[in-house]
Amino acid sequence: MARVYLGLGSNLGDKETNLRAAVYEMEKRVGKLIALSAFYITEPCGFVSDHSFLNGVCCFDTALSPTELLEETQCIERDLGRTQKSVGGIYKDRMIDIDILLYDDLIMNTSRLTIPHPLMCERRFVMEPLVEIAPDGVHPVTGKLLKDYLLT
Ligand code: ADP
Ligand code: MG
Repeated sequence: MARVYLGLGSNLGDKETNLRAAVYEMEKRVGKLIALSAFYITEPCGFVSDHSFLNGVCCFDTALSPTELLEETQCIERDLGRTQKSVGGIYKDRMIDIDILLYDDLIMNTSRLTIPHPLMCERRFVMEPLVEIAPDGVHPVTGKLLKDYLLT
C-alpha cells in the first residue's frame, strides 16, 4: 500500500461537481480515500482565461503502482470530459485535471511521470490544500516541511 496525494483542478462546467466526481471515481478505481481538502477558488496561473479554477487535494491509500495510478487518473480525466491536453507546458481550460503530487516518499523521473510533481511547490493553489490535509508533510527531495513553502 502506498499513501498518495493528488491535486485536483477544474475551471469549466460545474467545477465542484467535477471535483467531487473525480474523487468518487478514484474511490472506485484507486483505493481508500483518507482525506479531502476544502476546495479553493483560484485565478488561472500561467495562461489567460475568463474562467477561475476550483482546486483541491485528496489523499488515498492505493495498491496501484505509480504508472498504474497515472493510467487510472488519466482515464478518469477522459471519462469526465477532458478533451484537451496541455501543450508545451501551457495550461488550458479543463473540466478536470488530476496531478500526482506525492507517492509515499518516492522520487521518480521518467518521460511520463515525475514524482513529486515538479511544479507543486511554486503553486500556492496546490500547496495550500495539500498542507491543509498533510500539515506535517515533508518534501521527499528537499526535506523541507511542506508548510514552509507557504511562507514565501
Ligand atoms: P498539466 O497538468 O501540466 O496541465 P497534463 O495534465 O496535460 O498537464 O499532463 C501532461 C503530462 O504530464 C501527462 O501526460 C503525464 O504523462 C505527465 N506527468 C508527469 N508527471 C506527472 C505527475 N506527477 N502527475 C500527473 N501527470 C504527470
Ligand atoms: Mg495534469
